[in-house]
Amino acid sequence: MMPGRRKRKGQLIVLSGPSGVGKSTVIAELLSLREKIHFSVSYTTREPRVGEENGVNYNFVDRPTFEEMIRRDELLEYAEYVNHYYGTSLKVIQEKLEAGIDVLLDIEVKGAGTVRRKCPDAVLIYIIPPSFEELSRRLHGRHTDSEEVIARRLAKAREEYAHIGEYDYIVVNDKVSVAAGEILSILTAEDCRTKNRINLIEGDNAL
Ligand code: 5GP
Repeated sequence: MMPGRRKRKGQLIVLSGPSGVGKSTVIAELLSLREKIHFSVSYTTREPRVGEENGVNYNFVDRPTFEEMIRRDELLEYAEYVNHYYGTSLKVIQEKLEAGIDVLLDIEVKGAGTVRRKCPDAVLIYIIPPSFEELSRRLHGRHTDSEEVIARRLAKAREEYAHIGEYDYIVVNDKVSVAAGEILSILTAEDCRTKNRINLIEGDNAL
């Protein structure tokens, strides 16, 4: 390919954060603000929550189906979280990245670690709540999980906090529009990286 015509690949973006931090809301806001970004719909063995749609929020599958995907090596990463499998299908995200479209993954810390290893150029962002008390309040407020599940999700949040240092950025979700705005700024900065703009000074554009 001619210098200066090199096509930029899409950026892989990993978003993590404790259950109940409001990731889905922040992601919805982000997708409405930025074009050419694809949200990767994960596979999971957990039951759909009220209002969740198959193929939109998750691809809901049974354990044997998920285990078959693991055996066939179809997942970029997967993890078990509070007794259920969650995983990212490789095929779709590869296609999007090749087409120059950014791909957003909403995954927990173990999966994020796998992505970091396999895709060193990925940008890792961790979303935190303003406080732990606020997180507990939000989890209770959504009335979707039992007291036992909430307790396990809060314990998981404490565990996850030990890994935040492995992320590139921390965003606080106090106000959704502010959190989405911060993520947008991160992505804009990534776009401006020399490695992503080198084509602007090569070939016909060279001085
Ligand atoms: P929830 O059950 O609340 O939708 O998700 C539980 C956790 O699983 C969240 O931390 C979410 O980010 C994570 N998760 C969702 N999809 C995936 C995935 O494909 N891979 C991994 N590793 N984690 C995921």
